[in-house]
Amino acid sequence: MKIHEYQSKEIFSRYSIPVTNEVLCYTIDEVVVATAKLGLPVVVKAQVHAGGRGKAGGVKLARTAEEAREAGAKILGMDIKGYTVEKVLVAQGVQFNSEFYVGLTIDRNSKSVIFMASAEGGVEIEEVAKENPEAIHKFVIDPDLGMTAFLARKIAFKLFSDFSLVKQAVELFQKLYQIFIDTDASLVEINPLVVTHQGKLLALDGKMNFDDNALYRQPEIEALNEPTEDEKKEIEAKDSGLSYIRLDGNIGCMVNGAGLAMATMDVIKYFGGSPANFLDIGGSSNPQKVIDAMTLLMSDQNVKVIMINIFGGITRCDDVAKGLIAALDQIQVDIPIVIRLSGTNAEEGLRIISEKNLPVVGSLSEAAQEAIRLVNN
Ligand code: GDP
Ligand code: MN
Repeated sequence: MKIHEYQSKEIFSRYSIPVTNEVLCYTIDEVVVATAKLGLPVVVKAQVHAGGRGKAGGVKLARTAEEAREAGAKILGMDIKGYTVEKVLVAQGVQFNSEFYVGLTIDRNSKSVIFMASAEGGVEIEEVAKENPEAIHKFVIDPDLGMTAFLARKIAFKLFSDFSLVKQAVELFQKLYQIFIDTDASLVEINPLVVTHQGKLLALDGKMNFDDNALYRQPEIEALNEPTEDEKKEIEAKDSGLSYIRLDGNIGCMVNGAGLAMATMDVIKYFGGSPANFLDIGGSSNPQKVIDAMTLLMSDQNVKVIMINIFGGITRCDDVAKGLIAALDQIQVDIPIVIRLSGTNAEEGLRIISEKNLPVVGSLSEAAQEAIRLVNN
C-alpha cells in the first residue's frame, strides 16, 4: 500500500523529523488561502501515487500569489502517468544548498532492512542507481541491533563533514528507522533531504510504502489508504472472490485459475493482441461470480471484446455454461464475446451455449485469434 507525500510527512513530523510547513488543498481557492497563510514563495505539489512528479510538471515553485493560483489551476486535474490530480500540497518554499537522498527498504539479497544514502538527491534515484550506482551508499541493518548511533554516524559521515549536520543526521536516521519498523513499511524515502541556508536538515519530500500483509496489525496505517479508481476495482473484485488486475489492453479476459489466466494473456500477446486485465474467477461455477466478473469487465471502457477461457477440471463446463447464461440474462453486454470451454463436460457446456447463439471456438489459439480479429474490426 502506498500513501501520499503529505501523509508520509505527517508521520515524519510525529517522530519529530523536520518537514516543511504545508497545507493540503483540493481547490484553487484553497491554494490561494494556503499561500496567504504560509507566505511566499510556495511550492505547489501534486499528490498522486506516481513517482517523478517534478519532471511531469506536478511540482511548481510560485514566487507571487498569482503564480501560486496559476500553479494550482494547472496542477489540479492534471494527468500524471494515468493518475488524475485531485489534491495538491502547498508547501512553504525553502532555500537550500544541497539535496540528498536517504531511504530504507528491504533487501532480498541480504535478507535485511537496508539504509541507502546518496549525496545525489533531488533527481530520480532510479537514474542515479542506473548511471552512477557507486554514488548510492548501502548499509545492511542488523535486526537485533537496529539503527545504532554508531551505524547512523558512519552513514552520516558519508554525506556530511560538518559536525552539526552529522549530529542532526544521526538523530534523523534513527527516527527514520524507527518509523520503518513501527509501521511495517516496505519503503521509507526522503528525496530530497536538504540543508537549508540556516544549516538545518529538512525533509522536502516523503514517500512511504507498506507491507500489505502487515496491514491487519496497522489499523492507523490502513486508514490512510486512498485507493485510486483502478485499485478500488481490484479491492471490490477481491471482496467478491475474484483476482483482478487491470492492464492496458483491450481484450477483457475471464478465466478460471491463475495459471490458465497467465497462459491466456501469453497466447493473446503471442498472436499480437493485448489483454485488458488478468482475471481469475477461481474454481467455482457460481453464476454470481460470473455476473460479478462480467460487470467488472464491462466497467472498463478499454474492453472491446470479452474472451472467456474455461478449463473444466473439478469445475464442470456445463455448470459454467449455465452460470454464463444466467449472467448474460441479467446484465447487458453490448460487446462481442468469444468463448472457449474445454475439459470436464465440455460438450454439454458447448451445447448449452450454442443454444443461446453465443460464439464458441475449439481451442485457446482460435479464441485469441478470434478476439483479436473482433477488436480490429
Ligand atoms: P518529486 O519530483 O515527485 O520527487 O518531487 P519533490 O517534492 O522531490 O520536488 C522535486 C524538486 O523540486 C526537488 O528536488 C527540489 O529541487 C525542488 N523543490 C521542491 N520543493 C522546493 C522548495 O521548497 N524550494 C526550492 N527551491 N525547490 C524545491
Ligand atoms: Mn522527490
